[in-house]
Amino acid sequence: MSDDETVEEYLFKIVIIGDSAVGKSNLLSRFARNEFNAHSKETIGVEFQTQSVEIDGKEVKAQIWDTAGQERFRAVTSAYYRGAFGALLVYDISRRATFDNVARWLDELNSHSDTTLAKMLVGNKCDLENTRDVSLDEGKSLAESEGLFFIETSALDSTNVWTAFEIVIREIYNNVSRKVL
Ligand code: GDP
Repeated sequence: MSDDETVEEYLFKIVIIGDSAVGKSNLLSRFARNEFNAHSKETIGVEFQTQSVEIDGKEVKAQIWDTAGQERFRAVTSAYYRGAFGALLVYDISRRATFDNVARWLDELNSHSDTTLAKMLVGNKCDLENTRDVSLDEGKSLAESEGLFFIETSALDSTNVWTAFEIVIREIYNNVSRKVL
């Protein structure tokens, strides 16, 4: 293959963090396989899945890691964060405690990574409007004060799931391009 035919390939690691049962695994399975599971998984350990999005005509692959239950034991290891270019910090809009814990997750994330990480605050389960416990404005203002992107999603009915990942992947791509070019 000659130099001009070289295909540019991008593969970025993204982590999903947040309290247990906020919907991290389902956001990932919805994005990577368009699947939803009504029951929480039993497995413990780290798992990742890949999905590609097209940005500026280029295929950009994301390798997205799921804590797969490690957070239940407050034992998310530094290997989990290593090499990540982006992160989704997820809470459940119907459980305030999960929103209150976002600051702790953000501290942990920041202690393991540098400042150019693309970070998205994600209020998941927005289909549960009847039992909403955290307002849209509270999510927005936390994100603004911490310099995060913000979106509400539903892994159950697919609302904004693709958009959430796409924004993070695009931001990573832009961060990397700015440094390289
Ligand atoms: P994780 O522990 O953060 O990975 O959470 P899971 O993805 O295992 O989801 C925990 C529970 O919440 C499961 O029973 C899911 O079916 C449910 N769940 C996940 N996402 C949503 C959502 O968007 N809406 C609703 N109503 N339930 C969800």
